Amino acid sequence: MSEKTVSIDIKKDLFGANEEAASKNAEVFKKHGIVAIDIMGSVGTGKTQLIEALCERLSEKYPILMIAGDLATRIDADRVGSHGVDTVQINTGTACHLDARMIRVAIDDTDISKYKVVFIENVGNLICPAGYSLGVGKKVVVVSVTEGPYMIRKHPLTIKRSDMVVINKIDLAEVLDFDVDALERDIREVDANLPVFKVSSKIGTGLDKLIEYLGL
Ligand code: MG
Ligand code: ZN
Repeated sequence: MSEKTVSIDIKKDLFGANEEAASKNAEVFKKHGIVAIDIMGSVGTGKTQLIEALCERLSEKYPILMIAGDLATRIDADRVGSHGVDTVQINTGTACHLDARMIRVAIDDTDISKYKVVFIENVGNLICPAGYSLGVGKKVVVVSVTEGPYMIRKHPLTIKRSDMVVINKIDLAEVLDFDVDALERDIREVDANLPVFKVSSKIGTGLDKLIEYLGL
């Protein structure tokens, strides 16, 4: 009698192939001295808004490419593109995350050597994007004060797999009676050393510190 569990093998293969593609992407970024950042978070946390704010401050200094992951639209890519930044839209169809091979397609589709900064906006959800390496220098999670107080406690794995957290929309904390410090304590409980940035992409609070930390 065979009791092999095939699903685990398939998953291992998938992740193995993804890791391989991710290290190839990493080589390309390294070769051209590109800072590549994967920006993850639920729908509505302000990922696009954060990228727009960063592009506003950095697009004179660096040639920037934004790669946008979205199921069907190019709304976010167009928003960022309006700041004079080149964009590549990846429509994932049914896939709820970007993987390294999708990034490879985007890289191959453009003259990547032109750019010094690549912002990747992942598909809006806080679960699986963190499980897929893209070959970037940093994976950033964006959470915001509009999502309620339990986002971190409900998604500890995403926090563990990230290099830093941005708490966005802090300008709304007071009116929503939201305890930003409590959210930061939840992050510290998952990873005591994870860099946390309290930001308002809208009014600009905290962006200079974030840019400095990103080495930009
Ligand atoms: Mg967006
Ligand atoms: Zn997914």
